[in-house]
Amino acid sequence: MMYEGIVQDLIDELGRLPGVGPKSAQRIAFHILAADPADVRRLSDTLREIKEKVRFCAICGNVAEEEQCRICRDPRRDLSSLCVVEEPKDVVAIEKTREFRGRYHVLGGAISPIDGIGPDDLRIRELFIRLSDGGITEVILATDPNLEGEATATYLARMIAPLGVAVSRLASGR
Ligand code: ZN
Repeated sequence: MMYEGIVQDLIDELGRLPGVGPKSAQRIAFHILAADPADVRRLSDTLREIKEKVRFCAICGNVAEEEQCRICRDPRRDLSSLCVVEEPKDVVAIEKTREFRGRYHVLGGAISPIDGIGPDDLRIRELFIRLSDGGITEVILATDPNLEGEATATYLARMIAPLGVAVSRLASGR
């Protein structure tokens, strides 16, 4: 079913978001149409601001509002320990546990030949630049516990081993 002009545009745009099918897109669109104008303005302001203000940390690839993210700027973090994750949301999940005091490296995804994502498409080169500095003595691979995450962890473990850096796998059911 097609709606007129801008209503259909909204449904189409929402439908392009990950995990939002045509039915959900339609439901969200009509929710927005019926919503209080102030609520919708706040949503649109946030969407615009996030593209203006938020960028990716020059060191770890996490989301940041400055050149470096809050974690990389924190002098209390352990510089010898590095936790490798797929996405910024994984940093949030691990930070919630309060068990890790080192710093992170966000790959921006996982190796997935089916989706055409290879090592060069991820921030793996940046990872090895960080490891070559010599300050990092321990790497924890916290990629997702699925096929792609395991493949990425196996690949990285094999690449990191010759550097003499201790590598472990954080296999959590996050
Ligand atoms: Zn950072």
